[in-house]
Formats: sequence, structure tokens, C-alpha cells
Amino acid sequence: MKKEAKKKVMVSACLLGDNCKYDGKNNYHEKLNKFLEDKIVIKVCPEMLGGLGVPRLPSEIKGDKVINKHGDDVSYYFTKGALETVKIAQREQISIAILKSNSPSCSNEMVYDGTFTHNLVYGEGITAHMLKLNGVEVFNENDIDRLERMF
Ligand code: SF4
Repeated sequence: MKKEAKKKVMVSACLLGDNCKYDGKNNYHEKLNKFLEDKIVIKVCPEMLGGLGVPRLPSEIKGDKVINKHGDDVSYYFTKGALETVKIAQREQISIAILKSNSPSCSNEMVYDGTFTHNLVYGEGITAHMLKLNGVEVFNENDIDRLERMF
């Protein structure tokens, strides 16, 4: 019987346990990591790919910009990170990404509203949006049950 090729998935580095969050911590997600055990994982942190360091100030999307908590426009770094991530997705022929929810880079459906008051609104992170425009289906860590049925 022909052996099925391993599926390749792009994943947010913080969900895998990398300490690349703005506060130097991670978002390790056990269920996701278990799901990924038999997959080829392409790990990305768009904010670091964009040139931001750790730790860094938290940022949120406000209108057509990304601002940090001090009100500085950091859109350049977020856009650069998104472009770099799209390049990796193209090179690796990625069709599925599982990215961190609620992030101004990675979120596929909800983001904080730009007031730094923990208020979520419908919207996409810059990288998730660009990946979708390039044909990548973007999920988040809460979609594992759905992904298990798909794979
Ligand atoms: Fe995680 Fe994405 Fe933020 Fe990097 S940019 S820390 S991968 S949510």
C-alpha cells in the first residue's frame, strides 16, 4: 500500500513553545502540539521576521496602522514580517497555517481594537490577512477538532 505523504503546516512559533511573545513568554498549546506530531511543521514568528525583538511593547491594529502601547506606528515591522512569512509559505508550498488567535500579526478572525483595553473585535492580523490573499487557509489553535476531521 502506498504510504501517504506527511502534511505540511505553517504554525506560529509561540504556540510551539518559543519565547517570542512581546513579553518574552510563549503560548505553548498542548493539544495543537499533539496534533502536529505526525506533520511537517514550518515554524514562523512574523513579528520577529519583521525585525522586532523580544521583549517588545504590545501592539494593536488601529485603523490602517499598527501602533504599539506608546502610540508609535510600527506598521513597517508588521508588514515586513507578513511579507517574509508569505515568502516562506510560497517557498514551502503551504496551503494550511495554524496561527495564534487574537494577535495583530497572526489572528485569523479577532483582534484587539487598538485601545489597549482587551476589547476584541472582528478582524485579521496583518500576516493572516496576507497569507489568505495568497491562498493559504488560516486556522487558529482553537480549531484543532475541526482540523482533525479535515486531515
Ligand atoms: Fe506568536 Fe505570531 Fe506573535 Fe510571533 S507574531 S509571538 S508567532 S502571535
